[in-house]
Amino acid sequence: MIPVTKPFLPPREEYQNYVDQIWERNWLTNNGPLVQKFEEKISSFLNCQPLTFVSNGTIALQLAIRALELKGEIITTPFTYIATPSSICWEGCKPVFVDIDERTFNIDVNLIEKAITPKTSAILATHVFGNPCDIDAIQKIADKHNLKVIYDAAHCFGTKYKDECVLNFGDISTISFHATKIFHTVEGGGLVTKSISVRKKVQAQRNYGHVDYENFSTIGINGKNSEFHAAMGLTNLEYIDDLLKDRKKSYEKYKQLLGSLNLNSQTEQPSSDVNGAYMGCIFPSSLVVEKVQSKLNNKNIFPRKYFNPSMDDIECFNRSNFKCQKSRKLSNSILCLPQFHGFKEHENIVNLIEQTLIGT
Ligand SMILES: *Cc1c(COP(=O)(O)O)cnc(C)c1O
Repeated sequence: MIPVTKPFLPPREEYQNYVDQIWERNWLTNNGPLVQKFEEKISSFLNCQPLTFVSNGTIALQLAIRALELKGEIITTPFTYIATPSSICWEGCKPVFVDIDERTFNIDVNLIEKAITPKTSAILATHVFGNPCDIDAIQKIADKHNLKVIYDAAHCFGTKYKDECVLNFGDISTISFHATKIFHTVEGGGLVTKSISVRKKVQAQRNYGHVDYENFSTIGINGKNSEFHAAMGLTNLEYIDDLLKDRKKSYEKYKQLLGSLNLNSQTEQPSSDVNGAYMGCIFPSSLVVEKVQSKLNNKNIFPRKYFNPSMDDIECFNRSNFKCQKSRKLSNSILCLPQFHGFKEHENIVNLIEQTLIGT
């Protein structure tokens, strides 16, 4: 069976070494030494502002919205994982979907201003598949209208924008370390901000607002992560150069093979270095997508329709208010092809795609 992705697992003994330390200390969670070490190491590896480690990428988004005290409407993209708009709703705000640029798969910056109302407090954009948004244009709009900017950078481990870690942009960037992501801590996520006061606030909010045992600075939640998750992160960090290099090679290989069939993927944002974590391939129609999917499924290969449906087409987000045609069209014409560490079936899969295209 070839799934769309497989989590990387390090040599068991290396993880076991950290587990032995945890047993010795009997310190399992609550900002333990491994969590602190992980936060230091990850920020220095990524060359980003200090990262605050939390329990997952969704809590990271929710904490970001809380910490910036966002209210009312938040402009966002319909082409993302449901965690993005559901976090907006969960925090009592309203997602306003703005259509995408079908080439980059990211929010179309030329449509943002039209969607701003007196109730708008922020823009929450996803760097889809590790491809940065037009960050300069978004910042310009935000400055002009006094809006905050959050980036859902869940896919962006290792991505750079203008030679800088992409997590350093916006008021806050969030990342996911879920098992399906290119770098993982089993479950986990992080927030990065340039503002020291926002960082302090997030650090308190992930731990019920505790200042010390008996003093609280703010209302918070349990967004902490554990020593076991930090241990997985520290172990995986030893392999990250290889993981990133291998994935990028895999992505380039797919692009070359698919290019010879005239199949496109996303257009990379200029001045960016994309990590290649996802191979989103665009097909001529939804019919072709179905045929390719069933052909591959018959061979026990399971690509996935990321992201489908388009978020503006879901009832709980007030579907009738939005019609993001480009996002809906992309949702129905894309398949993410399998990629994971050590994956070598590119030619096989692209051959099967070619056979299907010939038959249509
Ligand atoms: C994975 C993902 C999330 C959520 O991260 P979790 O760690 O699974 O909570 C948020 N946004 C996007 C775009 C994602 O792909």
